[in-house]
Amino acid sequence: MTELIEQKASLHFEPYLYFFLNQTHRKEEIQIFFKGRQSVKHLIESLGVPHTEVGRILINSLPAQLSDITRDGDDIDVHAPQPVLQHDTSELNPTFVIDNHLGKLAHYLRLLGFDCYYDSTLDDENLAKITVEEERILLTRDRHLLMRKAINTGYCVRSLQPDLQVIEVIERFALSRQIRPFCRCLNCNHLLHGVEKPTVIDHLLPLTIKYFDEFYQCTHCKQIYWRGSHYDKMSRFIEKIMAQLNHA
Ligand SMILES: [Zn+2]
Repeated sequence: MTELIEQKASLHFEPYLYFFLNQTHRKEEIQIFFKGRQSVKHLIESLGVPHTEVGRILINSLPAQLSDITRDGDDIDVHAPQPVLQHDTSELNPTFVIDNHLGKLAHYLRLLGFDCYYDSTLDDENLAKITVEEERILLTRDRHLLMRKAINTGYCVRSLQPDLQVIEVIERFALSRQIRPFCRCLNCNHLLHGVEKPTVIDHLLPLTIKYFDEFYQCTHCKQIYWRGSHYDKMSRFIEKIMAQLNHA
């Protein structure tokens, strides 16, 4: 067996991607040594940056692909994805699948009207399967999950705070004009529709019957919604999010 020759490449990451690099790599140029046939994707991910977080790549100043094989002496520029533009219709109404440690984010995004597949019992295998089969965007904090080859659409949520995570996702996918609060079931993700009071009255408590006349019901799980104290609390949350988005 012949020993493989050591090769060297230089990588330059846009500072926005420093989040994924360890402290010693957060600099203008990273020298990396490798042996054998290594794709650009492999070298980038070996430093901790999932391919879903990578936009334009240049090798020796020429446009390149993640699947390109790195050659000795290559100089690789790695950029973050371009911000999504409002008029880019391909990104309109994106649908998400949300990793099981981000339950609050799923709840908040549904509250704002976004289609979020969330099931706290899903393992990585099934999260990846749903992402690919249903062409959803995977939201996770697990960068290793995003490194799976099959996953092309994902986003690594940076913040640990659910309300800031919501802002991140809205900004990353330019969703601020697509917010439609209170149109989706918080339990099961299906859409709500207005219902006449008599059709649901048997399921309501006496005080609810007394004080409320407008009701909505989930088309799937039949959960009933009305503008009670939870509604006020959620409205304040939405106002807070909108104010933060307007200041961003
Ligand atoms: Zn439901």
